[in-house]
Amino acid sequence: MPELPEVESVRRSLLRAGLAGRTITWAVIGWANSVKRPSAGELAEGVVGRVVEDVGRRAKYLLFRLSGETVSGGRVSGRTAATLVAHLGMTGDLVVQPGGRAAHSLTRHVFGLDDGRELRFVDGRKFGKLWLVDDPALVLPPLSPEPLEGGFTTEWLAGSLAGRKAPVKALLLEQSVAAGLGNLYADEALFLAGIRPGRPASGLTGDEVARLRRGIVECITAGFAVYDRARDGSWPEPPGPMTTWSHPRDGKTPCPNCGGVMAGTRIRARATWYCPGCQV
Ligand SMILES: [Zn+2]
Repeated sequence: MPELPEVESVRRSLLRAGLAGRTITWAVIGWANSVKRPSAGELAEGVVGRVVEDVGRRAKYLLFRLSGETVSGGRVSGRTAATLVAHLGMTGDLVVQPGGRAAHSLTRHVFGLDDGRELRFVDGRKFGKLWLVDDPALVLPPLSPEPLEGGFTTEWLAGSLAGRKAPVKALLLEQSVAAGLGNLYADEALFLAGIRPGRPASGLTGDEVARLRRGIVECITAGFAVYDRARDGSWPEPPGPMTTWSHPRDGKTPCPNCGGVMAGTRIRARATWYCPGCQV
C-alpha cells in the first residue's frame, strides 16, 4: 500500500510533469464506486474547465487545488474554487502521460488536459477514492500533524500514546497518531528506535517516545530521498514502489545491526518484522 513517501513521490512526479497550470478539459470516471463525494457524474462535470493550481498532500491524501471561476465557450461561470482529493488505496497510482500513449490496462479514471496529455488514475484493486469538495477538511479523517512538520513533537506523540495499552505498532497505524505511516514504515520507525512493535504504548519511557519520533522522521526522510534519486534517474518515467527501509522483512536476511535473525509476527493482522536482539 502506498504510504507517505510513496504518495509524496507521486505528488512530486505530477508537479515535475507540469500538471500545475494545466486545465482539465474532460473527465472519464471508469469505476463510479471510487467517487465518494459528490456523485461520479457530478465529479466528472465539476472538474472540467478548471485549472489545476497546485498539487498538495496531507498524510496519504493528494489534494489537487482547482481554480474557481472558469471560461467556457466565452462565458465566465462563477464557480468557487474546489479541491479534488485522491487517496491511492491499496494499489493506486496517478500519472501524467501523452494522450496518444496506450493507457495501463488497469487505468480507472482519466482527466484530459489542455496540452493533449492525460492525468490517469491506475488502480488495480479499486480501493482508490476520489472526492470533489470546496474544502478538504470536509472529508479528511482526524490526522496527526505531518510527521515532518513542526507540530509533530515528542510531547505531542507522548500525549497521543499516553494511557493506551494497545501495541505501539497498532497505534502508529492510526492516522490520528502518525499521519501517513502504514505497515512498512511503522515497522521501520520501530526498528530505528529499537522498540519492539508489540510493547504496550503506555509503557514507553519518555526517552523511547523521543527515539520513536526520531525514527518516524528518519524513515520518512530517507524514503523521500530514495524516491527523489530514483526520479532523477528514471525521468520522464516516474519511479514505481521501491524498498526504502533498512530492516529485512524475512527470517533469512540477517539484521543489519547485529546479524541476528529477524522475527515475524502479526499485530492487528498486519505482518510485522522486528529484531529480537536490537528491539526491546
Ligand atoms: Zn538486530
